[in-house]
Amino acid sequence: MNRLTGKVALVTGAGRGIGAAIAHAFAREGAAVVLAELDMQTAQATCHEITTQCPDARVTAVRTDVTSATSVREAVVDAERLFGPLDVLVNNAGINVFCDPLTMTDDDWRRCFAVDLDGVWNGCRAVLPGMVERGRGSIVNIASTHAFKIIPGCFPYPVAKHGVLGLTRALGIEYAAKQVRVNAIAPGYIETQLTRDWWNGQADAEAARRTTLELQPMKRIGQPDEVAMTAVFLASDEAPFINASCITIDGGRSAVFHD
Ligand code: NDP
Repeated sequence: MNRLTGKVALVTGAGRGIGAAIAHAFAREGAAVVLAELDMQTAQATCHEITTQCPDARVTAVRTDVTSATSVREAVVDAERLFGPLDVLVNNAGINVFCDPLTMTDDDWRRCFAVDLDGVWNGCRAVLPGMVERGRGSIVNIASTHAFKIIPGCFPYPVAKHGVLGLTRALGIEYAAKQVRVNAIAPGYIETQLTRDWWNGQADAEAARRTTLELQPMKRIGQPDEVAMTAVFLASDEAPFINASCITIDGGRSAVFHD
């Protein structure tokens, strides 16, 4: 409790899944939280859940499309008007775009990069000037194990996620001397709608789910809360010398040489 007291955080894509879990955890730890989300229905519902569980929580939802630099800048302005200067940004919004490279449409390529890489850059660019000026700040980018591993048939998502890792390292180094830390989290399989949609898109959803679990060293997939706890750590003052790094949360899956 209170590991983020006095901090102001903005979390993109926080209406559901990992983003919602991060918003919950941040509020529990005392941060004022802005849920920057495309879908206001899920964002408002998550805000309501948070205030039901933590009546003193300071939370609000702001409609944000991370693919638009203007929309993200406006969300930051709204957040700072309401709660004060941002200490923490979590670039969480992301989508799966899994194609065969040669039959993929230009639209699929652009959709993937617009959300999964431009979205992260739009967030960083909107908060960095203020963080640099204040000489403090923590940015947490939700990458993926796809940021350093390739699963055939998932193109171009891993290309964008490799980019998120590169962006994290580059910005972490650019602004290190200003005491602004930029880190990434690389989740493996986490139980969210994104993952359920992937299973449901397979010929036999139940078999796909079973296969995923069997391949996991821990014989289970992760929960959104397990990612949120690491986001709290990276956002907090407990990680002052962790910068330009990536923490993998996959139960060991990416360390396995072959299945
Ligand atoms: P979900 O699909 O459950 O949630 C993503 C949220 O982001 C949704 O609320 C979605 O809103 C929102 N969103 C999508 N596009 C935009 C946009 N343009 N602007 C603002 N918000 C947007 O995904 P997860 O919680 O599973 O994933 C969160 C992050 O974690 C992503 O970056 C993903 O790549 C990453 N990740 C997830 C893994 C997993 O196993 N679940 C594994 C590795 C990485 P809407 O409902 O309107 O689309």
